[in-house]
Amino acid sequence: MLLWGAAYAAKLNTMTHVAYVALGSNLDDRRGHLDGAVAALREHDAITVRRVSSWIETEPVGGPAGQGQFLNGAVELETTLSPHELLAVMQAIEERFGRVRTVPHGPRTLDLDLLLYDASVINEPDLTIPHPRLHERRFVLAPLAEIAPAAQHPILNATIAELLARLDAGA
Ligand code: AMP
Repeated sequence: MLLWGAAYAAKLNTMTHVAYVALGSNLDDRRGHLDGAVAALREHDAITVRRVSSWIETEPVGGPAGQGQFLNGAVELETTLSPHELLAVMQAIEERFGRVRTVPHGPRTLDLDLLLYDASVINEPDLTIPHPRLHERRFVLAPLAEIAPAAQHPILNATIAELLARLDAGA
């Protein structure tokens, strides 16, 4: 039984999962930060970047007045990493770009959010999937709809394209 369990765990580790990550930057070389983050994800042995959205210019939401416009995008990944392992990789990439977490919703060189991971629903202190504000944010839904309009939100039972249409309709 123990052996079977270990074999099963090993098999789970080799299974590929599909994940979506949101990217944002509103400081310094914003395009360089987003391109650099994609390059860093591509470099990881356990990650394949399948699709990359265009980078879109957006107004800051919340946070201190007068901060600069954001550049936002989204990527589709295939990975053998668990959700927590993937989050740790994303946080290491944020650190590499010198992210400073001082002011909530304030300016940041690079922000990476894990939006979806297969159809998983995770509610843990350090990780919530689907990302809890995914469906409220046009700057997340618009680039995500470009690369994955038919991806399904596992709680709201709607596709990304439907969620974007709802948001645009003010529903
Ligand atoms: P923020 O500073 O807004 O990027 O938030 C980062 C914190 O949110 C980290 O401490 C993460 O552990 C936590 N977190 C919870 N769920 C997620 C998620 N789906 N993607 C990224 N960070 C998350």
